[in-house]
Amino acid sequence: MKNVCPVCGFDQLAEAPYDKDNNPSYEICDCCGFEFGYDDDSEGKTFEEYRKEWISNGCQWFNEDKKPQEWDVERQLSNL
Ligand SMILES: [Zn+2]
Repeated sequence: MKNVCPVCGFDQLAEAPYDKDNNPSYEICDCCGFEFGYDDDSEGKTFEEYRKEWISNGCQWFNEDKKPQEWDVERQLSNL
């Protein structure tokens, strides 16, 4: 089963962002840079608000090394 980032739809997370008890993984998404358990706690923003910000900032990759050659943000967002 794939672990999908609830912010950007990136589906290659190493761990599930939250376990069944809603404990965060503290993993940082390679794509949008969201840190589960940290960013969702600090400013009280929803995933949707983070997503809008990320998109309006040009959908920058946090870890460019992990960016697929033929990356399509629309396709990735359809994972959500
Ligand atoms: Zn993400």
